Amino acid sequence: MAHAYDAVVVGSGPNGLAAAVRLAQEKLSVLVLEAAKTIGGGVRSAELTLPGFTHDVCSAIHPLALGSPFFRQLPLEKHGLRWIHPDFPLAHPLSGAQAAVLHRSIETTAGEFGQDAEAYKKLFSHLVRNWDDLAVEFLQPMLHWPRHPWLLGRFGLKALHSSSSLIQSRFRSEPARALFAGLAAHSFLPLEQRPSAAFGLVLGGLGHSVGWPLPKGGSQYIAEALASVLRSLGGEIKTGIRVEHLDEAPLARATLFDVTPRQFLRIAGDRLPSSYRDRLQKFRYGPGVFKMDFALSSPIPWKAEACARAGTVHVCGAWEEVALSERQVFEGKPPDRPFVLLAQPTLFDTTRAPAGKHIAWAYCHVPHGSTFDMTVRIEGQIERFAPGFRDCILARHSLDTAEMEQRNANLVGGDINGGLADLRQLIARPVLSLTPYRTPIPGVYLCSSSTPPGGGVHGMCGFHAAQAALKDVFV
Ligand SMILES: Cc1cc2nc3c(=O)[nH]c(=O)nc-3n(C[C@H](O)[C@H](O)[C@H](O)COP(=O)(O)OP(=O)(O)OC[C@H]3O[C@@H](n4cnc5c(N)ncnc54)[C@H](O)[C@@H]3O)c2cc1C
Repeated sequence: MAHAYDAVVVGSGPNGLAAAVRLAQEKLSVLVLEAAKTIGGGVRSAELTLPGFTHDVCSAIHPLALGSPFFRQLPLEKHGLRWIHPDFPLAHPLSGAQAAVLHRSIETTAGEFGQDAEAYKKLFSHLVRNWDDLAVEFLQPMLHWPRHPWLLGRFGLKALHSSSSLIQSRFRSEPARALFAGLAAHSFLPLEQRPSAAFGLVLGGLGHSVGWPLPKGGSQYIAEALASVLRSLGGEIKTGIRVEHLDEAPLARATLFDVTPRQFLRIAGDRLPSSYRDRLQKFRYGPGVFKMDFALSSPIPWKAEACARAGTVHVCGAWEEVALSERQVFEGKPPDRPFVLLAQPTLFDTTRAPAGKHIAWAYCHVPHGSTFDMTVRIEGQIERFAPGFRDCILARHSLDTAEMEQRNANLVGGDINGGLADLRQLIARPVLSLTPYRTPIPGVYLCSSSTPPGGGVHGMCGFHAAQAALKDVFV
């Protein structure tokens, strides 16, 4: 039977779009099918609160996109994407009017850590100096023959620690400890668990080497730029089409699924050998998130001045409080004083709210599948470090884990990373293989963040899945 397309990609998240672009670069005919009405998956923007206020439904801050070896090769700026760098990538308020700040410069950051200045420089300098070479090593399956074994080995010695042991062995001052704890908490692992330190090192390293930028106009511009590159190469996109079974996808020589293992089992389970099905069934999802967006009458009135110059603010206080919040999540309890990740785009991009008005984007980690309403607790944490915050709120919008999964089936139980990133699943993602994108069905691939290198907007899962298809099917 004739193939309608060379390749079909199911799902238009950053990984689906990256896979489609990579295949179209080889002059293949490519169709992307997206279940939602709009493209983008985790890179979508919408007026969630009031007219004229543009919020990011999922991702907002993009060190991984700017640092992505594949996205860097694409003419995304020519296709409408503009990066904005806040004055400071990140601030972390502490007691009084104090805050730890991650500056672009390691020297400036370390200079504010007093007795920990040398320890901070020692921790990050090697990583940042060799960022480009190391990024290529991290952003592919862990099982590979490294091009830079010494660099990777040196990084691994630090990264394989738990963040609590790294924090206590290297730092004495509260600001350095809190800053690293906040970075490491992006792992969704308890800080006592390995390899949570790896996330702190990579995100801190990205802050110093590429920055933590946001796209002008909102994250949707990343999806639109990728889609525009794809169309310029002859690719097609159709929205509002959910593929429920393999047979429903148009005939193609290669079909790539930007979905997680649980969905793939529903879509293709009856075609999979039981051994592979068993392995996918054992794939574990991580905690979820409770997401909030605010329309504000003014900027957030932070006690610590530095917070008003940062794109991202980690709101929780001392490192022990961050550790407690993440531990509670892992034990299945909605945290009493959550670790809140907050972004304030309109301090740097006035296009996203009416003149003089502002938006804030915030989420906290919650147990997998939790529908507990965290509104009061999230607002309470912000108010603690910015008294008067509640008085600035014009409107709010929230999404619990179930509502998020309803909008995007990849957010299983509210897990935003496509599966837990513990030691086991960093290596076996979703299965232990040199090419984990390949499934046992010839010509069928997985390309979502449930494959290496995992969560975040970088498109590298899609890129590597497309490379596997190019090698197997389109030699
Ligand atoms: C609240 C939140 C905040 C985040 N913050 C950040 C951040 O600041 N920075 C960052 O780098 N990352 C962030 N992330 C993570 C990031 O968004 C994801 O890791 C990334 O989007 C994963 O890309 P993906 O292409 O694998 O999947 P997704 O982006 O989830 O896209 C999957 C797409 O496939 C579609 N789909 C699923 N099933 C089907 C089907 N059967 N048929 C057709 N279409 C289907 C979905 O509708 C969706 O559009 C955040 C995520 C969330 C939810």
